[in-house]
Amino acid sequence: MDKKELEIALQRCRGFESPKIELEQYVTPAGVAAEMLVLALLRGDIRGRVVYDLGTGTGRLGIGAALLGAKRVVCVDVDEEALRIAEQNAGKFAIDNIEFIREDVRGISGRADTVLQNPPFGVHRRGADRVFLSKAVEIAPVVYSIHKRSTRNFVLRYLKELGCRAAELVEVVFELPRSYEFHRKERKHVDVDIYRILVE
Ligand code: SAH
Repeated sequence: MDKKELEIALQRCRGFESPKIELEQYVTPAGVAAEMLVLALLRGDIRGRVVYDLGTGTGRLGIGAALLGAKRVVCVDVDEEALRIAEQNAGKFAIDNIEFIREDVRGISGRADTVLQNPPFGVHRRGADRVFLSKAVEIAPVVYSIHKRSTRNFVLRYLKELGCRAAELVEVVFELPRSYEFHRKERKHVDVDIYRILVE
């Protein structure tokens, strides 16, 4: 499956029914998810690996990892409603090595080979992105994470504090359809970075 095929497959996933702003529920655009997943695949971080998707939302990153040959995928989200949609989405594909756990990321333990995540950007709840980063590097040696470009310096500094480094940074644009009442435009563009993070 190449990047374009993966993107088309992920577009079959339903989005959030009634997104909760306090949890910063935005669907990861299929193209951005495919970009992250193929990078991880090429680096040897997906096939045959145990992959966690933290803040899985509607499940795209975890489902994509399963489609690309992960050994086992664990999807975690605090929101029951989102998980229900993620499970439905997974049901559209011939994958059976994927599980869903309702839990605050702060509470999870376990060991992964790779973490994939599109965490809250920490815009609506300050520090929400930190919670995800610190947990991710605690449970896996390699982490792929998406952050707003405007927070790059902050993220890089925080990674250093955690004893990690950003081995790669890929710049992409998030095109989000209008999903909240307070959005004034039909579409919104957000510059983001995909990080490949290594625990030193
Ligand atoms: N990749 C997902 C989007 C993630 S949006 C997709 O394509 O659908 C961020 C997700 O993090 C949301 O689903 C939100 O419910 C979840 N979340 C926010 N704070 C959380 C926490 N403390 N613990 C677990 N999940 C959390």
